[in-house]
Amino acid sequence: MLYPRIDRLVTLYFFHPLIRMIHSHKEKHIPILMYHNISEYKENGVHPYYQMNTSPDIFVEHMRFLYDNNYSVTPLQDIKKYFESGGKITNKCIVITFDDGYHDFYTKAFPVLQKYGFSSTVFLPTVFIKNKRLKSKKKQTLIWNEVRELHKNGVKFGSHTVTHPQLKFLKKENIEYEIRHSKEVIEDKLGESIDSFSYPFAFPEEDKEFRKYLRDILQKFGYKYGVSTRIGTASKKDGIFFLKRIPVNSCDDISLFKAKLEGGYDWLYNIQLASKIIKSKLHHFYQ
Ligand SMILES: [Zn+2]
Repeated sequence: MLYPRIDRLVTLYFFHPLIRMIHSHKEKHIPILMYHNISEYKENGVHPYYQMNTSPDIFVEHMRFLYDNNYSVTPLQDIKKYFESGGKITNKCIVITFDDGYHDFYTKAFPVLQKYGFSSTVFLPTVFIKNKRLKSKKKQTLIWNEVRELHKNGVKFGSHTVTHPQLKFLKKENIEYEIRHSKEVIEDKLGESIDSFSYPFAFPEEDKEFRKYLRDILQKFGYKYGVSTRIGTASKKDGIFFLKRIPVNSCDDISLFKAKLEGGYDWLYNIQLASKIIKSKLHHFYQ
């Protein structure tokens, strides 16, 4: 099924050329790529905007593009240095992240990242990471031995909660458990302090009170960095716990991938925020 790609058209033929023309955008922004699965899985019936799988061939193309174009792939932990420098370290800084801890990170993504010497951070929902692989599951996750092996080879790991819930709808004690316990489990398995967090599902940024509460909790439990599903290249003003990311999938050919890296997709953030505000108002109205 063919879907109208308004996001693609507006990005490629309006915002990307506009940003290149005004040339002012990138000084203090950094693209943080957000991948999920790297597999041949086809998401039939899902609009490309919502797809989460990247085919191994497309992933190789993305990594080769970064390498050939002298992108400097830095760990998420270096992002503060970058912001503090006013973005002057290099204007081609980039961070690569993977959510959900799928097994195909081990088989398909890591060998490519290793070939190019790229760092990455994988966010784990810890209840799904076991000592032995469950054969029955459709989407396989990593097992702890693989996590340990990847960690020894330089891959960073962060928390993606325990059970991957929409945190906003939980009781405070459960939110705190999700955030604290996932960190403790990974620390216990890897023997290293874990300092980064990835918020699962849509980030409820329209709720200022919740945002403040979440930031305080993350800080309280010893996190130093966080990423979200807010769309866009990251900047200091997002707040270090709720950094924006660039969603990437199989539908990102190199022209769209390049446009996304250069801030051409950032306009979608405003649409995303407006839709969250409208949904939240409607929700209150009908309650
Ligand atoms: Zn997730």
